[in-house]
Amino acid sequence: MNAVLQNLLQLQTLEFGDVAGKSIETQVAKLRGLIPQPILAHYDRLRVRGKKGVAIIRNQVCTGCHMQIPIGAITAIMRGDDIQLCENCGRYLHVPDQSESVFIVEPAPAAKRATKAAAKPRKGKSLALVL
Ligand SMILES: [Zn+2]
Repeated sequence: MNAVLQNLLQLQTLEFGDVAGKSIETQVAKLRGLIPQPILAHYDRLRVRGKKGVAIIRNQVCTGCHMQIPIGAITAIMRGDDIQLCENCGRYLHVPDQSESVFIVEPAPAAKRATKAAAKPRKGKSLALVL
């Protein structure tokens, strides 16, 4: 993972967490010192509005705004050589685990057909009700 993003994510966990105290403050100050100023400024702009500056990508979708993220951006994040912003909500994007699939798993066609058949109304019964 990108080192800056890792620090940013750690900072977010501390600042949005329930734990408070001197040790947290020290860690926050240390992390803020490690993150480049423009990145920190953008993160803070989101934070003052109560928004988290880092969003996780699940199934190729930004969990902050539920918009689909281009696969090119995801691969860049996974390589860890770049920090990407969500074009829609402006959050820094993070792919949680490289082993986790970022692709949407389509439901099996057999399962789809079964649901359709079950939802079909039975003609005989409704006719009996009308009469
Ligand atoms: Zn987003």
